Amino acid sequence: MAAEKPPVVILLGPPGAGKGTQARMLEEDFGLVQLSTGDLLRAAVAAGTEAGKQAKAVMEAGQLVSDEIVLAILRDRMAAPDVTRGVILDGFPRTSAQAAALDALLEANGQKVTAAISLEVDDEAMVGRVSGRYTCAACGEGYHDEFKQPAKAGTCDKCGGTGFKRRADDNAETVRERLNAYHAQTAPLIAYYDGHGVLERIDAMGSIAEIRAALGAIVGRVAA
Ligand code: AMP
Repeated sequence: MAAEKPPVVILLGPPGAGKGTQARMLEEDFGLVQLSTGDLLRAAVAAGTEAGKQAKAVMEAGQLVSDEIVLAILRDRMAAPDVTRGVILDGFPRTSAQAAALDALLEANGQKVTAAISLEVDDEAMVGRVSGRYTCAACGEGYHDEFKQPAKAGTCDKCGGTGFKRRADDNAETVRERLNAYHAQTAPLIAYYDGHGVLERIDAMGSIAEIRAALGAIVGRVAA
């Protein structure tokens, strides 16, 4: 098969599974572009756009933002020139309607989902993982109170920044809501992608480095 289309890799998994951390590493390792609807929505909330105003309370409650808003944001982002390098979708799709809309969007461009990788974890461990996390306010590098502290306390390893932030929805109560939303609305997509022959599963209970290696083996095979 010559002239392959750019890869479209989906990371599926509940909050705390490591989608964002691993998507950033796949960017570094394979030159793909991370596309996180959560990040795009948080940017819309921060910018005070109409979509952001509508999404804010829904996100704080740990529920899913409407397909309409998410798809509008996603379509805009997919139209940017950098996505021609190939994308890692982190946190999208999250509903059957979003999965169908993604298929249609890709098909219009002669593309298909290359792989949907399910990061398999225990729910209870996710509450601890999510509750302890924070990011560098300048570059977005992720840290965790227990699992990944900066080498020099209070200074980002990556950019030297000294400001850090925590997400409003990263508290134990909201994480449980987000886990419920995942199981009710997103987990059924695992069977959907299995039916399309593109599903891969990895054990995502290990260390960040172990998960990176397992994902790299899959992405190297399907998308390099
Ligand atoms: P995330 O950063 O992926 O954990 O997403 C944070 C929050 O943004 C979620 O709990 C939802 O409220 C919202 N969100 C992100 N992506 C989607 C999506 N694809 N569909 C609906 N809501 C989303």
